[in-house]
Amino acid sequence: MNKSIPISQPSITKLEVDYVTDAVTSGWVSSQGKYIQEFEETFAQYCGVRYALSTSSGTTALHLALLSYGIGAGDEVIVPDLTFVATANAVSYVGAKAICVDIDRDTLCIDPYHVERAITPNTRAIIAVHMYGHPADMDALMAIADEYDLILIEDAAEAHGAKYKGRRTGSLGHCGAFSFYGNKLMTCGEGGMLTINDKAVYQRAQHLRDHAMSPSKRYWHDQVGYNYRITNLQAALGLAQLQRIDHLLARKRAIFERYRYHLSQLSCIRLNFTDENIENSYWMVTIELLGYTEQKREQFMAFLKDKGIDNRPFFYPMSDMPMYADGQTHTPIAHEVAAQGVNLPSYFDMLDEDIDYICEVIVRYLGRSLRQLTTVSRTEPRVEKTVSSLSLAS
Ligand SMILES: *Cc1c(COP(=O)(O)O)cnc(C)c1O
Repeated sequence: MNKSIPISQPSITKLEVDYVTDAVTSGWVSSQGKYIQEFEETFAQYCGVRYALSTSSGTTALHLALLSYGIGAGDEVIVPDLTFVATANAVSYVGAKAICVDIDRDTLCIDPYHVERAITPNTRAIIAVHMYGHPADMDALMAIADEYDLILIEDAAEAHGAKYKGRRTGSLGHCGAFSFYGNKLMTCGEGGMLTINDKAVYQRAQHLRDHAMSPSKRYWHDQVGYNYRITNLQAALGLAQLQRIDHLLARKRAIFERYRYHLSQLSCIRLNFTDENIENSYWMVTIELLGYTEQKREQFMAFLKDKGIDNRPFFYPMSDMPMYADGQTHTPIAHEVAAQGVNLPSYFDMLDEDIDYICEVIVRYLGRSLRQLTTVSRTEPRVEKTVSSLSLAS
């Protein structure tokens, strides 16, 4: 069997092709055009915020957020030690210092207990990352932000459409930053979005995004601005994806449920956690190989690769990287999880039988046998035939 299962792949249908074709043939190929406004308005509505500002990436959305709140040199911003590096880099871009703290063992998100202990007179903001689609504990974080007068920024790059106590990510903190990179739940190719309710901060971010050009005097700039805009072509792709987001989310959930069906009985691994009162977007199916060293984890990953199953290690702790290592950060949970975690394939068009195959390879590696589950052959629309609609009793 010569399988080759990628870890991620965008779902492109006729809708995406039609919108992008319309955008390109309209001649509005750059940073003006109807798709940009519609994408922003629809996204704001979807998240339940007043404003959404499209950006060239998730990283630039984070950078604009920090700039617009006036965070800069001498300030400290608390971030989780386990995240994609862009979270901490955005803090560095404004000249502030990223303070890396440990994560919660279950949610893998920043731990409010460690956030509070890391606060100093220089602390200005917290960036909460909704890891792999699981929202951070936003009530606890907001209580801390209120008490110490801090800005709470959501890095929602991995959690489009996820919910915390009934509310969508992007609406839970003072602002939210999303990414539409090719491997995210929905994509623009490259792109991002800043979600926010505060009109003045929104306007500052918009101004900075567009070269800080005076609205009343063309080519007059009152500060150093940026070109962090998205194009109409990207927005056309993004709008089509956004209109399909319920399907994209439902398929992610069904994929996770099928993995869970096969793997949840293995006590030596741990799958994505889902806390009460939240809806996980399951951006990535994750397994942690409990008790594994990083070296044993690498062997497991190589074995899957050899069987045609693409996979990724978890992120490495920020505090281990040369630019953030300060010799003082103590984050045992982030370190343990980082060494044991693996992301598995979970993309819209993947076949149920591929999930079954992957699980079979995993349980064989771990020396167990697979639970039997009837394979469902799916045709579009895929969301209507998922494992969750089957009887799982066995
Ligand atoms: C993907 C990602 C980003 C960066 O998004 P880009 O659009 O690639 O700049 C930031 N934070 C997290 C947690 C991410 O996963």
